[in-house]
Parts: sequence; structure tokens; C-alpha cells
Amino acid sequence: MLLPLPLADAYDYRVPPGLAVRPGNFVAVPLGGREVLGVAWDGEPDPALPEKRLRNILSVLDAPPMTATLRRFVDWVADYTLSPPGAVLRMAMSAPSALEPPAPQAGWRRAAALPGGARITPTRRRVLEVLADGAARAGGELAEAAGVAPAVLRGMADAGLIEPVLLPRRPRFVPPDPDRPGPELRPEQHQAAEALKATVARRAFATTLLTGVTGSGKTEVYFEAIAECLRQGRQALVLLPEIALSAQWLDRFRARFGAAPALWHSELTSRTRRETWRAVAEGEAPVLVGARSALFLPYPDLGLIVVDEEHETAFKQEEGVVYHARDMAVVRARLSAAACVLVSATPSLESANNAQTGRYAALHLPARHGGAEMPVVEAVDLRRTPPERGRFLSPPLVAAVTETLARGEQAMLFLNRRGYAPMTLCRACGHRLRCPNCTAWLVEHRAARRLQCHHCGHVEPIPEACPNCGAAHSTVPIGPGVERVLEEATALWPEARLLVMASDTIPGPAAAAAAAQAIQDRQVDLIIGTQIVAKGWHFPHLTLVGVVDADLGLAGGDLRASERTVQLLHQVAGRAGREERPGRVLLQSFVPEHPVMQALVSNDLDAFMAAEADGRRPGHWPPFGRLAALIVSSEDERAADRAARDLGLAAPGGEGVEVLGPAPAPLAILRGRHRRRLLLKTRRDIAVQPLLEAWLAKVQVPNNVRVQVDVDPVGFL
Ligand code: ADP
Ligand code: ZN
Repeated sequence: MLLPLPLADAYDYRVPPGLAVRPGNFVAVPLGGREVLGVAWDGEPDPALPEKRLRNILSVLDAPPMTATLRRFVDWVADYTLSPPGAVLRMAMSAPSALEPPAPQAGWRRAAALPGGARITPTRRRVLEVLADGAARAGGELAEAAGVAPAVLRGMADAGLIEPVLLPRRPRFVPPDPDRPGPELRPEQHQAAEALKATVARRAFATTLLTGVTGSGKTEVYFEAIAECLRQGRQALVLLPEIALSAQWLDRFRARFGAAPALWHSELTSRTRRETWRAVAEGEAPVLVGARSALFLPYPDLGLIVVDEEHETAFKQEEGVVYHARDMAVVRARLSAAACVLVSATPSLESANNAQTGRYAALHLPARHGGAEMPVVEAVDLRRTPPERGRFLSPPLVAAVTETLARGEQAMLFLNRRGYAPMTLCRACGHRLRCPNCTAWLVEHRAARRLQCHHCGHVEPIPEACPNCGAAHSTVPIGPGVERVLEEATALWPEARLLVMASDTIPGPAAAAAAAQAIQDRQVDLIIGTQIVAKGWHFPHLTLVGVVDADLGLAGGDLRASERTVQLLHQVAGRAGREERPGRVLLQSFVPEHPVMQALVSNDLDAFMAAEADGRRPGHWPPFGRLAALIVSSEDERAADRAARDLGLAAPGGEGVEVLGPAPAPLAILRGRHRRRLLLKTRRDIAVQPLLEAWLAKVQVPNNVRVQVDVDPVGFL
């Protein structure tokens, strides 16, 4: 029996007489003094356990059993990430209330024979008219349709005019129709779509990398794969990095298939979660669109997984079970004998390499749809044309925005920093305001009148006096965030209608949809945004994108800094000029000669990626080798150091195996915990999991120290 708890292993229970339990059944079992839900897992009970020590399974739940495929997937993810299987199972049981059979819904229908003496008032007549077709309706719906108060229905029931009935269950999702006509595909789109349809129709595992510049029509192409999957009678899953970005995506899906897909993300109400989970399990959600956790839903027969924007780091879950949803999507597809399609304008080096070596099939759309040109990208050398003192927009960028607005077109300023200023300094003594819990500066949020740590959420008021030297009103903001760019833009273009898009101003899908609509309807002239504006959006009137600090992502310089910066800036640039009007992109940089800027200016990402690959190959860096990180953390700094040192001493070695560290993590203190990192690097043909297991088994780590394992790390903070 596997329980959705971070226990090391499955537990054994006895099946009491009269109860039939099969692998996959959801069951209730006693654990300590409580009753918990779990899943009957595969494998034999431990023969060493005396039969009489076993406790009885209490009941089998009336829910579709967990499929063998999903059970194997849970085991696989647990093994790969070195997580307790129960912790992974918990992700697959994220809506426990869905395991209860849904309560039947009651409704009303017209009485077979209307009683003679009953009074038929005009309101009552309206109700009877609504019910005249003989169908039953739920009370709320009926009252609304007839325009009467619910009390009217009760009165009518007492008078024998209507009778209560149980309503037949309605399908929770209208099935999308694969055979509605989609847009006429261009020849190269058609070719790619046919290739994808063929892999889906084969009903066997295969992974395809679909690339093409932003706006080349990749979405329309994979919609055809979804259509084929529906014709095959199997489910399709589309993973998107941030569900907030999907408002426009959903409109397009609805236009193509005539129905909305099921959604899965963290903002769902518990009721929608329960119903969606149950619908998926019962095969009633033919297409599901979701964030990474949607991988763990109980699809009975998955035929296709699409991972859109596959290069996105948001697919990596960094807390709890640390896993990469893109990689696990490939695994889930393999276990399900399904097709997997990875989609990106700027694929990760990992996926590009897999395509190059033939592990993945590759499809490419060379040009933008409708003859739209790729935007012209120029670097603005901030050394030569710096902004005025205390400003952040250089004269060339200001001029370009002014011209764009004068033409009645839209412009966007991109800066991947929330708040007003990333750092606050005392003019008198030079003291910088730091988070008390983290190795991080406090970020000023001027509109909210406070300082905030973006790592732990700590907030405090902006101090009147320097906490270090006591000087009054001495603090000054250093550097820009989007709020500060907004201030500058307001002064420069007082007539322009401005909109800030950041995760704190656009908190969820509804707000994002409203913002997108306002932009599409030209109620906005200038958009100032963080990375939430970078991806996916199609804004037809947007022709200029200004990147306020193109060098930002290069700081810190971890393994993937350059790759990530190119990907992000290319995505941002791709928002410009998506229809007839040509787009222009200005990158403000202090290092315009940097290969990242050059790749963007010349629009030669392939050459950049090839150079990046050449840089990683000799040292066996991913994707040409494997990495796993250990993050040692404790509230007690000495304990963290000691454990990190012990792990360092016990580190594995040998041909093709190397351990770097221990070293303080760049975020050396996070939420009050001291953090040290070790990095295991191996040749690609050496699996890291057995090495990690043996390594961790050698070191006794005290209770106040946590060691987190991160296989295939993406972030290095
Ligand atoms: P990508 O996913 O590659 O960024 P999209 O699929 O979003 O590109 O396509 C860009 C724009 O072109 C969208 O507005 C889309 O509706 C439109 N488009 C793409 N292909 C076609 C087509 N064959 N016919 C009509 N419009 C298309
Ligand atoms: Zn903090």
C-alpha cells in the first residue's frame, strides 16, 4: 500500500475477508490513530512481517483505480529524483475529495398529471413553461430561467405541480471537435502537421521537437496533432509554463475545436479541482491544458503530450519533489505509448542536442506566418549613449518610443524586475538595506510603500532614517524596477496610456486576460512589463520592444545564463511586428559585443547555440554530461558547514565522476537557513542516482540539517 506521505516505502496491510483489492485501487487504511487514503501498490508483501501484526484495509473507494501506467510513472519519478514514492504519489492524489463518488444532483420536473385544484399564478406558469419540454432541471437553473424566486419552486412542489428527481449526470466537459475546419495551413505547416499526425496515429512513443521562430504558426501545427489524438479516442495533454499566459491560447483552442479544454493549475477552486480530476479519471476530459502538475493526473489513455515553450525554466519544480516537467513529460509519454511534442522558438540545448543525435525527430517552420518579417534587433551601447543621470531610458530608445507612439502604434518596455528599485542605499553611510532572513537586498515597492524581499516575502516599511547611521531621509533607490520605468515613462510621454504587467500587478489568469484584451483593443499605448509579457502573447499593433537592461540575466554567470538570456530576449523581441507593420527591438546593453547580444542582433540563434554547445562539450557539462546538486541547509550555520564538509569528504570519485564544492550557495542564507552546495558532475553514460544513494548513505546528517537533492539542476542559487 503506498500512502501519499513522504515515507521511505510502501506499507503492508491485510485484506479482510469480503474485500477485493487490486493494484491501483484507492483504499482507506489506518495509520497510527488516523485513517488515511492510499493506493494498493504493486509488489508482494514483505514475508518477514508476521501476519498478525498487519492491520486491515478499511475500505476500497468507489473511484476509478490508478492505472498501471500512472503507478509506474510515480515510481519512475521517485527513483529519478530520489524522492520518497509517497511524496510523488501525493502529487497524483492532489484532489482527494475526487475519490468520493460525486453526490447526485437533485432537480425538478413537471408533474406527470397536474393536480386539478392548484393555483396557476403567472410566475408558476413561467416555471411550467420552462419545464414544458419534459426535461428535468436543477433548482437554481430553473428559477433563473423562469425568473422566479427559489421559494416559488417549493410552493409548487407542495402543490404537486412539480416533482423532485435525481438529475442524470452531465458530462463535465463538452468534447472538442477535431473535425471542425482549422485555418488553411501553409505548405510547411501542413507538412509538419502531417508528420505529427502520423506519430500520433502510430500510437507508440516518439518525441518530436517542433521549432520555428515566434509567430511561425507552431500552435496551429500542434493543434492538428491534438485533433488526430482525439480521432484516435485518446486524451491529449498540453503543458504550458504559466497558465496565466493562456487566455489568448484558450481563445484559439476554442476557435479551432468549438469547445474549451479542461484546465489544471494552482488557482482552481477546490470544487473545480475535484470535478476536473474525476473527469480526467473517467475519461471525460479529452484535452487538458495545465501547468506542470497536470502530468500527474489520472488519464486513462494518454495519446499525446505537448510541451509548449519547452525551454522554460518554469517547468522545473524547485520545492518538494524537485523535477523537470518537460523531462518527465517525455517519460510519461514513453510509459503511455504516446507521442510527445516539445515546442519552442528557442529550444533548450538539451532538446536541440537530442534532436541532433536523432533521439528526437525534428520539425522546423522557417518563417513567420502571413509574410510578417522578424523584427530588426539593434543594440544600444549604453557606454556611448547613456541615459541622463538618474534615468534608465537612453536617448535612442526614447526617440524610438516617441516615434512609435506618434505613428499610433504600441510599444513595450521590458525589464525583468518587479518593484521600484532593486536596492536601497543610505547616502550618508553607504549602508544597503538587506533582508533579515536572506542574502538578498530589499526591493523597494514604492506604490505599496514598502520594502520587500523577493526570496522569502519579508516586508517592512521604507525607513524614515537609516537603520545603520540614523541619518534622516538619507535612503536613495539604486537601479530600476518596472515601477521606476513607469515613473520615467509617465514624465516622458504624459499623454500615453501606460500599463504595467508584472506578477504583482497582474495576479492571475483573469487579470492577464483583461490586460491582453485592453492591449488588443488599443486601450494601451505603452506596456511596461517583466517576464510575464515575454511569452506567447500576440499583440497585433505592437511594433517596438525596448529591453531596458539586456545584461541583467548575464550577471551571476551560472552555466545557463547566456542560453537563458538569449531565449528570454528572443521571446520578448518576438512580441514586436507580428502582423503587417515591421517590428523593431532595441537592446540597452553595456556589452553590445557580447555573443548573446550579437546572436540577437544577427538573429542567428543556431550559431549561438552551436557555440554554446562547443563550450560545454569538453568539460562534460549538460547536455554532454550529467549534474546533480546537493543543497545542505540549516538554521545553525556550523551544523550546515559540518554536514557539507562531511559530504565533501565522502564524495564519490573515479573515472568520469567529479564533485565540486562544498561552497556557500549564492543565496547563502534563505529564510534564515544557511545554505551550502555541492555539485556532482558525471559523464553522460554514468547515472547519478546510484552514486547519490551510496553517497548519502555514507553520511550521518543531524536532524537540524536538510539535504535537498536536485537532479539535473536548472537554477544554481
Ligand atoms: P507560434 O506558435 O509559432 O508563435 P502561432 O501559431 O501563434 O505561432 O501563429 C502566429 C499567428 O499567425 C497567430 O495569430 C495565428 O493565429 C496565425 N496563424 C498561424 N498559422 C496560420 C494559418 N495557417 N492561417 C491563418 N493564421 C495563421
Ligand atoms: Zn528574505
